[in-house]
Amino acid sequence: MGYLPMSKLTLPIGALGVPRIGQRRDLKQALEAYWSGKSTLNDLNATAARLRAENWRWQHQAGVDHIPSNDFSLYDHILDTSVMVGAIPARYGWTGGEVSAETYFALARGVSGTGLAAQEMTKWFDTNYHFIVPELLADQTFQLASVKPVTEFLEAQALGIHTRPVLVGPVTFLRLAKSPDADFKPWALLDRLLPVYVELLRQLQAAGADWVQMDEPCLALDLDDATRIALHRTYAVLTEAEPRLKLLVTSYFGPMAENLTTALALPVAGVHLDLVRGAADLPRVLAEAPKHLTLSLGIIDGRTVWRADLEALLTQLEPIIAAWEPDKLILAPSCSLLHVPIDVTQERSLDADLRSWLAFAVQKLDELAVLRCALTEGQSAVADDLAAARAACDARKASPRLHNAAVRERLGRVVPAWAQRYRPFTDRRRAQQEKLNLPLFPTTTIGSFPQTEGVRKARSQVSKGVLSEAEYQDFLKQETEQAIRWQEEIDLDVLVHGEFERNDMVQYFGEQLSGYAFTQHGWVQSYGSRYVRPPILYGDVARLKPMTVAWARYAQSLTPRPVKGMLTGPVTMLCWSFVRDDLPRATVCRQIALALRDEVSDLEAAGIGIIQIDEPAFREGLPLRRADWEAYLAWAAECFRLSASGVSDATQIHTHMCYSEFNDIIGAIAAMDADVISIETSRSKMELLDAFTSFHYPNDIGPGVYDIHSPRLPSKADMVALLHKARAHLPPEQLWVNPDCGLKTRRWEEVKPALQQMVAAAKSLRAE
Ligand code: GLN
Ligand code: ZN
Repeated sequence: MGYLPMSKLTLPIGALGVPRIGQRRDLKQALEAYWSGKSTLNDLNATAARLRAENWRWQHQAGVDHIPSNDFSLYDHILDTSVMVGAIPARYGWTGGEVSAETYFALARGVSGTGLAAQEMTKWFDTNYHFIVPELLADQTFQLASVKPVTEFLEAQALGIHTRPVLVGPVTFLRLAKSPDADFKPWALLDRLLPVYVELLRQLQAAGADWVQMDEPCLALDLDDATRIALHRTYAVLTEAEPRLKLLVTSYFGPMAENLTTALALPVAGVHLDLVRGAADLPRVLAEAPKHLTLSLGIIDGRTVWRADLEALLTQLEPIIAAWEPDKLILAPSCSLLHVPIDVTQERSLDADLRSWLAFAVQKLDELAVLRCALTEGQSAVADDLAAARAACDARKASPRLHNAAVRERLGRVVPAWAQRYRPFTDRRRAQQEKLNLPLFPTTTIGSFPQTEGVRKARSQVSKGVLSEAEYQDFLKQETEQAIRWQEEIDLDVLVHGEFERNDMVQYFGEQLSGYAFTQHGWVQSYGSRYVRPPILYGDVARLKPMTVAWARYAQSLTPRPVKGMLTGPVTMLCWSFVRDDLPRATVCRQIALALRDEVSDLEAAGIGIIQIDEPAFREGLPLRRADWEAYLAWAAECFRLSASGVSDATQIHTHMCYSEFNDIIGAIAAMDADVISIETSRSKMELLDAFTSFHYPNDIGPGVYDIHSPRLPSKADMVALLHKARAHLPPEQLWVNPDCGLKTRRWEEVKPALQQMVAAAKSLRAE
């Protein structure tokens, strides 16, 4: 490599954000203890402060120069932003002044025993992180209600660490907001919102901040002119009001493409580029960016867990370093590291090979340090690190563990008919109704029942060897039988076995498929205190043996009522994993679909007449840009059908999705051709059904009537009201009655009355 290091080059490293949950899920424990009254707010705040301090110190030691602050959140940083600007709906009873922890968590979770529900939640771009959707009125006013960014900046200063505060930019904030008002125009609120940001920036400046990171990932979306104008106006106002601060506008998760001209013309000190997913922007950046602009080069992938090919990255960086003022560059991860686990060295149970292929948040910052050293002091200064990275990348590519000839061969034989049911839905419905004989408004649940302390304890005891495998199986059988008996008692129509044997809906299957690896501590925040441990999909996927048939058969043997078989769909298996980067995602997804297809057939053969293939991540897999949607939706729906279409017409295929907006993908949902789809609707008050109605969605739908993510229990009247709304949209023969999602996170004390009320609600609709 011909690059000659410049002696003056210092190359600061800047992180955009790091995981906030703690090495041992510390934040979750602290939150849950506080919520259950086992600890005080002071205890919670102490844990939060410790986690922040640990993160700052760790980054400081790793040589990060721009260390983020205010990337921490007790629940969600978008919610923090709503709170910061005083955008708190009146029903939460806030009357100004400081926002209490009670109000904050009421916004996030609702309040049990009252009518107060949580605010709506949705997925953050194409990640599996969920944020609380800002809710604004057409005549919304704002005020600086929280100075958390200033407080946390000062907290770091007190530890001797100078940080770069992170704010959600005003344009992204408004763009993500929703309103109950039909005439809501977000940009009309900009002039009211900006003074709050100005006031905050002034306080940050007074506190000693020099750089402030303004996250505007909306730049990676399709924008209209109004948004582009709003961006320009925002940064003109902010820079003029507080010219002593240097604003770094960050975009990530994709190329800025046609928004690049807007981004590069913003009157700010710096712009962050996602050079992983947005590498295509680079030539234009170098040609068009004004020379005074500082470029934060997001070179290390913040969305995957694979160790970087550092030599290749050096080659990519070379022309940039040669072209730009050396003191106007920052090396960075592509985005916040919120979306990857913390530290791969904690993974002692992964084999050494696999571990050497991976990099989590800690390793990614180390990779940046190596890159910096190579660039400032020459590659010889880090020859060993570069060689080790090279060797690991080469070893992964060449590993026989990545390839399974039988899988590749079968994939080659797939023909379109494999992805199609034998007859159209109307014929299938008749065959299914004949066989199942269900009443109008059939009731069912989404699959899981409470994963109680007892269930989790048994699972951990069997893994520790305290409980024998046979004892564990007996225990699970008892739980399953109780669940079946109880569902019969409350008179549900289609039963589930309860999923007591499952640790997680993806992990459970991944552990039984080849090509998947699992971490012990690789948790990533999904929302609030809910974290997931995405599996690592590194090799060809094959089913080794039936995965769920024994449990389904056992549950069905206990009752004459139909028991649903329960599978996680191919798209969700893909989206909720860290996926290999050496095959197209569509190919990996087809491999999973074929493995599931065999399972579906085996369930049918075992006498299971209804099989649910969950696809909660279907929408989240959507590319951020519309132009890329069609291709994704086509292969995603095809993969679902590939998994579902090996069965006879009389076998009823269900699917389930949660936290999705359907308006814009309803065509693809219909193309999945599931006989029944259950969806999240209760929080958005059946709003989602508009899409199904105007599309004339042909198959059956179960719009959720019970928001299981809120500790608040719905009454029969609540659910009847929701069902009336649903019936206004759809003919009764098309409607099922079910909760929004699985019940595993709830307690039996909550689930029992809620489902009893739900069955009563369905019966009262039948009587009408
Ligand atoms: N069957 C799964 C469950 O009930 C579905 C979970 C989900 O939609 N995320 O837990
Ligand atoms: Zn769900």
